[in-house]
Parts: sequence; C-alpha cells; structure tokens
Amino acid sequence: MKLYNTLTRKKEEFAPLDGKTVRMYSCGPTVYNFAHIGNMRTYIFMDILRRTLRYEGYKVKGVMNITDVGHLLSDADEGEDKMEKAAKEQRKSPYEIADFYTKVFFDDLKKLNIGKPELTPKATEHIREMLDFVYALCEKGYGYETSDGIYFDISKFPAYGQLSGINLEDQKAGARVEVNDEKRSPFDFAIWKKAPKEHIMQWDSRWGKGYPGWHIECSAMSKKYLGEVFDIHTGGVDHIPIHHENEIAQSYGYSGKNPAKFWMHGEFMLVNNGKMSKKLGNTYLVSQLEEMGYSPMCFRYFCLNTHYRKKLNFTFEGMDGAKTAYARLCALVAKHREGENDVSDEKLAAYRKEFEEDVTDDLNVPGAMGVLWTMLKEPASRKIYALALEMDKVFGLKLDEAKAEEVKEEFPAEITAIANERAAARAAKDWGKSDELRAKLDELGYAVKDTKEGYTLTRK
Ligand code: AMP
Ligand code: ZN
Repeated sequence: MKLYNTLTRKKEEFAPLDGKTVRMYSCGPTVYNFAHIGNMRTYIFMDILRRTLRYEGYKVKGVMNITDVGHLLSDADEGEDKMEKAAKEQRKSPYEIADFYTKVFFDDLKKLNIGKPELTPKATEHIREMLDFVYALCEKGYGYETSDGIYFDISKFPAYGQLSGINLEDQKAGARVEVNDEKRSPFDFAIWKKAPKEHIMQWDSRWGKGYPGWHIECSAMSKKYLGEVFDIHTGGVDHIPIHHENEIAQSYGYSGKNPAKFWMHGEFMLVNNGKMSKKLGNTYLVSQLEEMGYSPMCFRYFCLNTHYRKKLNFTFEGMDGAKTAYARLCALVAKHREGENDVSDEKLAAYRKEFEEDVTDDLNVPGAMGVLWTMLKEPASRKIYALALEMDKVFGLKLDEAKAEEVKEEFPAEITAIANERAAARAAKDWGKSDELRAKLDELGYAVKDTKEGYTLTRK
C-alpha cells in the first residue's frame, strides 16, 4: 500500500519494519478541556489508517499519549501551563481535571467508532522516562541550562526543519519568533522547566523541582513503547512545524536517528472556511452535535467524504447532507441483508478490487465510498451485503447495525409534491387524476402505497 510521507513529500510504498506489526505513535489530546470536532477529525484519520493496515493483514500496535501535564499555551513553550490554568479556574486538582476530560475523550472515541489505540500512556506516569531522556540529551551536549529550564540547543542539529521545510536562517531574519535572552537561539525549546513554587505539578530533578516540556513527552513515551525507530507517527498538520520538528531533533540527539519511517498528518477542519476557535464560539463538540440531532456516525460519514490531506469545511448544510446520505446508505445496506438476487463472483471481485485500490492509495476513502454506493445500487443480494460489511471494516460506519425500518427516507421536494397532489386527488375522489399521478411517480422511480394514515413512498 502507498502512504504519503510528510518527511519526503511523496507517496511511498509502506510495509512495517518487521514485516508483520505496524508500530504507530499518535499525538494524543491535552486533557485540560474538551476535544472538539476538529480534533476528532484527526483521530478519525488515525482510525482509518489503523483499520486499513489491519484490512491489509498487518497487526497494529498503536500508542497515543494523554498529555496531562505541561502543555504550555503556545507550541513554542511560552505562556502559562494549560493544565495549571484549567485547575485554577475550575478549583480542582490537575489530576481531577485530567481524569474528567480523559474520560469524556474516550467516550467520544467510542461514539465515533474510533478504535482506542492499544496503549494510551499518561505523561504524569512517565516523568522518570522523560527525565532520563533529558539527562541523556544534556550528557550528549544537546541540552543547556537557563534560569527557567533546560533547553535543546538546535545549533547541534543542523538538519532541523526537514519535516516542515523551514529554513532557520530565513526565519531568524523574519524575527517572527520571540527571543528569550538566555536562549542561544530563538528556536531552542524547553525540554524541562524549572517550577516556580506555586506551580501545582512538579517533580524532583537534578535541577530541583520542575516539570517536563511537551515535546519530550512524545519522544520518551514513543521510545519506551515502540523503540527508537518505529513505523508511523501521526498528528494534525499544526504539529509539523514545531512539535514534530522538535520530536525529531530530540530523537536525533538521543539515538542519532529519526524516530519514525513515515510521518503522516491530517489536514485541519475549518468552520465556515475559517479557523475553529473558542473565541468565535465555533468549536463544536460531539455531544453538542448530538443535541442538534446529528449522530456521531453522521459526523464520521461527513469526515470520510473528504480526503484526510484536504481541508474540510464544517457547515450545518454539509452536516444535513451527510445526515440524509448516511440514512440512505443504511437503508440501501439493509435492503441487501436478505436479498435473494445472485451476483457473479467476477462482479464482486471487481468491486472489491476497486475498493482496495482506493484505500491502499494513501487512504482514498472518498473514492472507496463511491465504490460502495455504486455497488449498493445492484439488485438486493446477500452477497453484496457481506461485501459491504467487509468494506465497513475500513469505514467503521456500523453498517451491520443498519436497520431499514429505523431509517426515515427523505425524498426530493418535487416527488413529495406529486405524492401530496395525488393524496388530495384521492380525497376529492378524482380517481383518474390519482392514477395519472401514480403513473408519473412510477416513471420517476417511486412507488406509492395507500395506507389508513395516508400513504407511504418508496424508492424502487
Ligand atoms: P491538541 O489537544 O490541541 O494537541 O490537539 C489534538 C489533535 O487535534 C492534534 O493532533 C491536532 O493536530 C489536532 N487538531 C487541532 N485542531 C484541529 C482542527 N481544527 N482540525 C483538525 N485537527 C485538529
Ligand atoms: Zn506528540
């Protein structure tokens, strides 16, 4: 299968290093707040990748960190600690805050049918490993001390910027990066922070009490659970220029190696073509969508229709469309469940082949979804049903739970208008007109059946 590697900027043939098990690390949530639907888009991408790898016959060992400490307000390690800020605001201990949001996060993953990675280590339970990483970096000459912490000296790693393609000299000239007097370069970043007395979360270190930098967390935990070099590292595109560059720099400092063979990034979700932000009040949560009548599966379907490397604009019109389409998809699948028609093996094999070509081409899920739709238009057949469920191992749309009777079909307005006109003709005992309109509906592909309450419409 082919996957796009941000590091090389091209699609490359993928196979796990050991031939069997894919070792994969995904940057997880910072649990000082709710994860919004934009975050969830990135985890749906991770899930589709995991599912496709399994479909291809590989085992997957996935690790996703839970950042329950030390993620500062900006990626560049400036500003207040997010966990500390939330704890103060909510008058709770940071552990209570983290436990609460971690639970909600896992509940959301479940609702969205996102498989939980095999290991979900918490940062606070790996301070020892992080400190060992920091000590090793200092011993190798990559770390230096300032009055507020220990920093990584990027001048010791000339290849810095390879992932994002940034040129440090140009960046320096642009002076977009704040300069901290004691830092040797504005791009040096904290691997350990010295804790002021009032800081709630702090641990003993060679430099007294302190807490880890955010980037060191991922480097230390990926090394512990997946080894110095593993197969795939995922995250959102915002992680490319700082977080992942810094992870790479740290790993080079530690082991002389890039920690991942493939670096993969999910594009952002926008809202009304703009940024999703708390200030604008447009950071929707899965639970809020549910309150508005959009099921988690409908949101998942909405996400699957755009390739993970394209921006996805969230709108309620888009969600309405996804809701109707997902209901129709379920109705079609249910139609095939008991279908008696036969389908040739050649035809089934052709659908399967087309589906597999799409998903193994850098997760072309929208293409694969098109194959599913075309296939479902065949005459009702159990064989089609079985193949749709096979495909759903990748989509994860719970198509096995699709029940025809639960799905209320929505019809084009002109069709409903004709059906209503016919009902009115019947009420007026104008049988001629009623038959005429039935024939018209028939011609357009709809069947109408009269009932005690009125009528029912079905697509033929
Ligand atoms: P955070 O908790 O901020 O570290 O974000 C968790 C994950 O969501 C990271 O992989 C981010 O890259 C990703 N992410 C943040 N905002 C968005 C967005 N608007 N669309 C898609 N992914 C996002
Ligand atoms: Zn990370």
